[in-house]
Amino acid sequence: MKKRLMVLAFAGVLAVGLSSCGKKEVSSNHVQSVTSETGAETSISEGETPDLSEEQPEQVELPESEEVQGDISQNTEDTQTQEPEQEATQDNSSQEPAQSAPVSYADRQEIYLDGSWQYADHSAIHSGAAVMYKASGNRKGIVVGVNAGHGTSGGSSAKTLCHPDGSAKTTGGSTEAGATKATAVSGGMTFNDGATESSVTLRMAEILRDKLLAAGYDVLMVRDGSDVQLDNVARTVICNNVADCHISLHWDGDGLSYDKGCFYISVPDGIKGMEPVASHWKQHNALGASLVDGLRGQGCKINGGGSMSIDLTQTSYSTIPSVDIELGNACSDHSDGTLNNQAEGLLQGIKNYFGK
Ligand SMILES: [Zn+2]
Repeated sequence: MKKRLMVLAFAGVLAVGLSSCGKKEVSSNHVQSVTSETGAETSISEGETPDLSEEQPEQVELPESEEVQGDISQNTEDTQTQEPEQEATQDNSSQEPAQSAPVSYADRQEIYLDGSWQYADHSAIHSGAAVMYKASGNRKGIVVGVNAGHGTSGGSSAKTLCHPDGSAKTTGGSTEAGATKATAVSGGMTFNDGATESSVTLRMAEILRDKLLAAGYDVLMVRDGSDVQLDNVARTVICNNVADCHISLHWDGDGLSYDKGCFYISVPDGIKGMEPVASHWKQHNALGASLVDGLRGQGCKINGGGSMSIDLTQTSYSTIPSVDIELGNACSDHSDGTLNNQAEGLLQGIKNYFGK
């Protein structure tokens, strides 16, 4: 009887040990970011609880048993299947970021800005989190960063450096040429029917996310709700470290009285010599051109040659293929039917860009 009790007690210790071990793995990135912000957290559970209880109270009560364990084994499998794919696609431009991001994320994991990431210190607003969605089948081992433009309350009263090296902006846009600092996140335009750009970009992001997941792509939802406290620098840096490409969704506030169609923001000549743009601008433009081709293939109206060069914060800080796609303007229809068709075009463009 005594022996049986001891065995049971030992098994209990083992189980506790295993589950806390697993929990550490799943949330390691999250804890890291908490630690770097407070600089004082000492244990995993202490570092994690304040954030979860603030934003996701329901998760605190989850038993640390089968659900957490399930995520861990899924993680391990993902890591294993991703490696050969990376080796097999040597000419693929997505190879570099995928290799520099060895962390494996769980489905629905919140991802915060890690203060140790390159350019993270340039961000002014970064208390919010992006959310990872993982495809359940036909997995391609590619993470698409989907950035629903705007939607950061207070974003227009904070400023960030236009360029990581502090140099002046070379073109106009929402911030004028010559400025060294830009609005951290602008408010966005308003459609003729009164809809806000941020609500339409979120709807578009959700539709695109579901299409990407069905096609086997993982999706990093940079903004997963009506508001995320992440400025343009933070959004870009998170994508740089977690995703294989970064696509921000916008409609143009041009004041025109007709729908001028879709286009992508290409890289202006003035910043092509500045790092990290110099090393990546060809990828940015190639991704943008591929998205516009995809939209054209779905019969979407394209503005002029399909691109307009603007010096954007997103472009200036991106170390992965990264593009701002403008899906129309205030006159554009933004019904689900139209957004679905545009999302299909973007999906085709992404497939063509990655070649799978
Ligand atoms: Zn916009």
